[in-house]
Formats: sequence, C-alpha cells, structure tokens
Amino acid sequence: MNRTFDMLVTGAGPAGLCVALRLNHLGHRVLLVERSPLWPRPQIGEALTPGVRNIIDYLDADEVLESVPILAGKPTSVRWTSESIETVAHDGAVVERAAFDAVLLRLAVARGVEVLRPASLAQVDGAPGAWRMQIATPDGLRNVEAHVLLDAQGRQSRREPQRLRAPRLSTVWAEAAMETPAAHADAATRVEALDDGWMWGAALPGGRYRVMFTFDPSARDDALEREPASVLRNACTRSALFKDIAGLPWCDSPRMCVSTPYVDTLSWQDGRIKLGDAAFALDPISSSGVEKAMRFSLQAAIAINTWCRASDASERELAQRFYESRLIESAARHLAWTAGYYRQAWCAESPFWRLRSTPALTSDTVATSSLGDETAARVDFMTHALQDELAHVPSNQPQPGEPAPPLPLHSPIRFARNTGIVVVPCATGDRVTAHPALQHPSLDRPVAFWNGVALFPLLDMLTRATHPLELIAFLGRSMEAARAQQLLEWLWSKQMVEPAVFSGGNTYPAS
Ligand SMILES: Cc1cc2nc3c(=O)[nH]c(=O)nc-3n(C[C@H](O)[C@H](O)[C@H](O)COP(=O)(O)OP(=O)(O)OC[C@H]3O[C@@H](n4cnc5c(N)ncnc54)[C@H](O)[C@@H]3O)c2cc1C
Repeated sequence: MNRTFDMLVTGAGPAGLCVALRLNHLGHRVLLVERSPLWPRPQIGEALTPGVRNIIDYLDADEVLESVPILAGKPTSVRWTSESIETVAHDGAVVERAAFDAVLLRLAVARGVEVLRPASLAQVDGAPGAWRMQIATPDGLRNVEAHVLLDAQGRQSRREPQRLRAPRLSTVWAEAAMETPAAHADAATRVEALDDGWMWGAALPGGRYRVMFTFDPSARDDALEREPASVLRNACTRSALFKDIAGLPWCDSPRMCVSTPYVDTLSWQDGRIKLGDAAFALDPISSSGVEKAMRFSLQAAIAINTWCRASDASERELAQRFYESRLIESAARHLAWTAGYYRQAWCAESPFWRLRSTPALTSDTVATSSLGDETAARVDFMTHALQDELAHVPSNQPQPGEPAPPLPLHSPIRFARNTGIVVVPCATGDRVTAHPALQHPSLDRPVAFWNGVALFPLLDMLTRATHPLELIAFLGRSMEAARAQQLLEWLWSKQMVEPAVFSGGNTYPAS
C-alpha cells in the first residue's frame, strides 16, 4: 500500500531540514529524502553568521549548536579595504558543516520527520495536491504519495532555463594539514582580496585548515589555469595572508565547484516549491548561505502551510505572493550587499572586482519560448520584479540629510502626498494574511506593522487633516501614550506625514 504524506522534501541540507522541522511542528506529516550515501556528507560552508543562532533558538534546537564544536572565536585577519592586514573581531561561528547538518537531521528524526537515506526520486506523477512518487532506495522502489513537493536539493537542483545569474564564479578549496597542534591552535580565520579573486580560510578540527579561493572561471581560458591544485597553490603563493599554507601538504586533492549566484524565477509552481539554494544561491563572499537558506525556509513554511490550509484560491494566491516577495527581496538585497563588499576592496578597479561591484542578474538563454504561455508570463513577471527591486535597493541607502524639524503638535497633519496605502501579504503567526501597509520612498518595503502593532485601521485618521494631539489620544486607546507619540514621530521623521496646511492657511480637503 502507498504511504501518504503531506510534504515530501528532497535534500537534507539546512533548507530541507529547517522546513521539515517547521512543517512537522505545524502538524504536517513530512517525509525527507536525502540522496547522499555518505553521512555526514562532505560539505563546504563552515562560517555561520550570528543570525543562525536566532533561528536555532526559534526552532527550539539548542542541542544543535551545543553538540557541534564551534571552532572560531578568535579575531579574523583581514586584507580587504587596504593592502595592509587588519585584525577584526569575529561575531559569527565556524563549525564543521557536515556535523551541523547531521545533528539537525537527528533532531528532525527525533521530532517525527520520516527520513529515507540514501534515496532519491525515481519517478513523479500526479498533480498538485496529489503527487505519486517512486523513491529509489538500496532496498528497492518505494511508492509514496504527497500533497506538496519541496525541492531543497541545493545547487544540484535541476537547472531550469528560467534561472537568472550574476557574473560567473568558481571556487577551489582544500584542507591543509597544519604542521603542529600549536600552529593549528594559533591559526586565525583569514579573509583576503587578491586582484583576480578572494580567499577565505579557517581552522577545522583534527589539525586541518580549510582554504578557499573564489575567482572568475571565464577569465582563464587555459585548462591548466583552471586545474584546481595549481589554481589554489598559485593563489596562496600570491597572497599575503595564506603564504604559509602554500608550502603545506593537502589532506585531499583540491576540488572545484561553481559558485555563481543565481535566482530561479519559477521556484513556486503549484504544489512544487523550491527552497534554499534550489531557489536562489548567494555569492559565498557573504558567508550567509546557511542563514539565508534556513530563514527563507521558515518564511516558505508559513506560505506552504497557508497554501495547504487555504479556504479558497485567493488565499492560495496570497501565500504564493508572500513567498515570491520574500524571495525577490532576499535575493536582491544580498546581491546589492555583496556588490557593496566588492566595491570596498583595495583592488576594486581591477576587472574581476569592477564587474561585480554593481548588482546585476542576466539570463543565459532566452528559453521562455519552450515554456507554456502562463509559465512564460510568470517568468517574465518575476524577472521584472527582481530587476525592479535591484534598481530600487541601492537608492534606499541612508542619505545624510538635514535633521527633521520637530513634530508640530498644535497644527493639523495628514499623510504626505507620496505616502501610499497598499495591501500586502504578511506572516501573522503560522499563516499569511493580507494587511494594509504604508508605502513611501523612505521605506525599504511596505510596512504593515510597527513594533508588532497593525498600523491600520489605527492610522486611517491621517488620510485627512488631523490634529496630532487628537491622534495621540486616539492611539492611546490601543497603546501607551508615549508609544503613540513615538509612532507619530517616526512617521514624521520619515516624511510620511506632512502639515495639512497650505501656505495660505487652508487645510487640504479631506480624502
Ligand atoms: C564555495 C562555497 C562556500 C560557501 N561558504 C559558506 C559559508 O562559509 N557560510 C555559509 O553560511 N554558506 C556558505 N556557502 C553557501 C551554503 O553552503 C549554502 O547556501 C547552503 O548549504 C544551502 O543550503 P541548502 O539546504 O539549500 O543546500 P545544501 O546544503 O547544498 O543541501 C542540499 C542537499 O540535497 C541533497 N540532494 C541533492 N540532490 C538530491 C536529490 N536529487 N534527491 C535527494 N537529495 C538530494 C544533497 O545531498 C544535500 O544534502 C558556500 C557556498 C559555496 C558554493
């Protein structure tokens, strides 16, 4: 007899594990399929940004970081904004990534997620809401059914023609055997900009030191120039920080992988949803791929939960809009952020750095002709939305300006003419719901909640001329008076409200 699940997740990396844990917690039956026969499987990406700690807390999974040794804590040696070497405090962690993923998987099993490993999808039939799969395992084929398919296969996810990508990157990496335990204990985390790429290194358990060099493969047309061992050795020799590593033996042959950032514009198709690197992959320069994969999976879990429990098509559409808006926002902001990082390098004028210092996404092929009309329209919509967000992000950097004059408490104010009210999908609890939100050029994105309080209908009064003291008294019924005044001051400082008085002394007509 076929086993039936609510969700089938493929891939037990941080994205798949996080979504499996969250959906299981929300009462869905989850089957997780991981194809790696080796477990813990080899995996790069050891630097964890501080936000991972909050996600682990949110998942109530403290044991994960407690049982995986945290290796960093020492300051990092950096050669980036200038050719000299700086020492900066390190606020993240370095962990053995394979062990981190393995502990998360154990936790998922303990909490009731079913796991098949090694296993992979051999065949998929059916339709959204009722998929039928054959799963290949060492014991033979298993038949299962699931309502939703979640692809968390990382960069190995099927490459679709609708991917947009940033300029190409490859990374070569290896582990060097440190000469003595003392040298290993002293080895700091290091980050360095070279004129044709950048390097990262950190101590791992067992006397090993991870070293990584990221570069543009299209700038090297000679096959020998792309041979991993010589690329890595050569980068170490040219560097200021990794020179000592150049003479050490590698524990294993250096390996190379593609590390180009990309976005899949068709990550949400009814009943088939991509997460983590399958949906969008960051430039490894940010060292935040794990945090992003986990954070995005938590947001996606709310959208998926809403989609499954929706009472009608409009609620399902809202869930998809929420997922897509989070994907667009995260991908565009990371691209803008990493471009800023490339701009700061001491060698920012050399071609490798110049090409990457403006955030950009391009399509390899215009292959949408092979897609149906509706799908092609979706790809088009997402492509435009991404380009739009990319064009918008840098203009949101704080601009030094005149300090705002104090809020006038005794003359009427109202929403400024460039303040809009739009309805946006928001995560409230475990569901996506629609909320009116403020939209204004000073805001990164529409804001529906301020310090946890829904802004509407509270601020409806500001659609017409209103005396601030009257508004504060009204808001004071739902919050403390001091908070009400802070809210008004925030609106004023962002120029979302303005005096409702013409120079002639007349107030604007009520709208
Ligand atoms: C060179 C490089 C360095 C990086 N360094 C860092 C770093 O220092 N810090 C950081 O935070 N991030 C780093 N990243 C990014 C980080 O590794 C990824 O963002 C993160 O692993 C994404 O998690 P994921 O769960 O989406 O995918 P993955 O971690 O790749 O997990 C995908 C899982 O799916 C499985 N799988 C694949 N295909 C199938 C299939 N068909 N069926 C079943 N299972 C399948 C794989 O075996 C794997 O276990 C780096 C990335 C690169 C390329």
